[in-house]
Amino acid sequence: MSPFITSIFFILGIFTLYEVLYEALKDFLKTKNFTIDDDCLNAWFGLIYMLIFIFGIQTTVAGTSISWQFMNFQLMGVVFCAYFLNIKVPYYYFIPVLLVFMYLNGSLGYWESWLHGIVLITFYVVLNYFRRRQKLHPFVYYNVTGMLFGALLWLFMKIKFNLPWTTYFEEWIYFVIFQVLLYSYVTMILRDSELKVRLTEFANHDALTKTQNFAAYTSEIKHSFSESKENQLTLSMMMFDIDHFKQVNDTYGHLAGDEVLRHTASVVQTVIDENDPSVKLYRTGGEEFNILFPGYDLPSTEKIVNQIFMAVNHLPVDVGTKKISISISVGVSMMSKKDVDPNDFYVRVDHNLYHSKKNGRSQITSE
Ligand code: GH3
Ligand code: MG
Ligand code: MG
Repeated sequence: MSPFITSIFFILGIFTLYEVLYEALKDFLKTKNFTIDDDCLNAWFGLIYMLIFIFGIQTTVAGTSISWQFMNFQLMGVVFCAYFLNIKVPYYYFIPVLLVFMYLNGSLGYWESWLHGIVLITFYVVLNYFRRRQKLHPFVYYNVTGMLFGALLWLFMKIKFNLPWTTYFEEWIYFVIFQVLLYSYVTMILRDSELKVRLTEFANHDALTKTQNFAAYTSEIKHSFSESKENQLTLSMMMFDIDHFKQVNDTYGHLAGDEVLRHTASVVQTVIDENDPSVKLYRTGGEEFNILFPGYDLPSTEKIVNQIFMAVNHLPVDVGTKKISISISVGVSMMSKKDVDPNDFYVRVDHNLYHSKKNGRSQITSE
């Protein structure tokens, strides 16, 4: 097989391995409850990975007459860091890296290598600039930059190693092809992960009330429950159900009922936002909602619960020319040491809500 074809698989392999390791690292940190911004993790991991890659393959040829052979691979590493990672490191940090590379390569005494180094850093800066600034036709800017700098960088190598023009053009064309491949590969992966994020959002979202839905609640309660148990933190829950909601539908129609649901969710969300955004609201049933209070004991939960209860009961919904007044029944409880799984906790809250309903509705049962 021609070395060019092998190189393509090598490059794709390097970037696939990168992607797999990055995803694994992200999952690992998540299980350890270590929070780091995805972009930041990607940048640091990418930088370290590419440095190991660039230096790693060079050690096999450093100082020999063929030490130019892996240059295209290394240029791919540089292009990846400059254009596809969000690295926020000042440019002059690359000078010591370059010096170490030249030292390792035994090329400190060659003027071609010095020029090569300066042009390489300029290439990085220009690509990085286009990554951040260029919105229109990014592919064209990316490609033209690569073609120009690639031609210049290979020219220094041609002079230093006295390569024939055929090798020069061959390597340059390989570089241009690799760069296009890298672009398509990364955009494909990005599109895939953006789609995943959007699908997850869609799956966890309640379209009517714009709150999180039952699926989101189920996964969150599992997570919060085990985290609170592990770290001996408090966790409280409020559940509420709109009273005689069927009558609203029967009297004013289903659309008015929908408006009541939207309005209720928005009033509750406003009260939450004024208190603490870490408190999360979920629509867990038709006219049934659930609120999780991580780190809250019963008295501090009750303070917010009372505000929500008052707000919903005192803010009638405007539907057309009519004003519909509603009330809610509420159950509240705090996670106890005796709870073995989230259901034990949930059943107690549900029981309290049921008690409020049985006892005449429009009230809070908390214990
Ligand atoms: P209670 O005080 O005991 O809770 O009485 P209720 O009428 O509120 O309770 P019930 O469970 O009998 O009725 C709930 C109603 O909620 C029945 C259902 O048609 C209505 N509902 C559920 N989801 C929606 C929705 O998305 N939009 C509208 N408009 N109505 C809904
Ligand atoms: Mg109801
Ligand atoms: Mg109900």
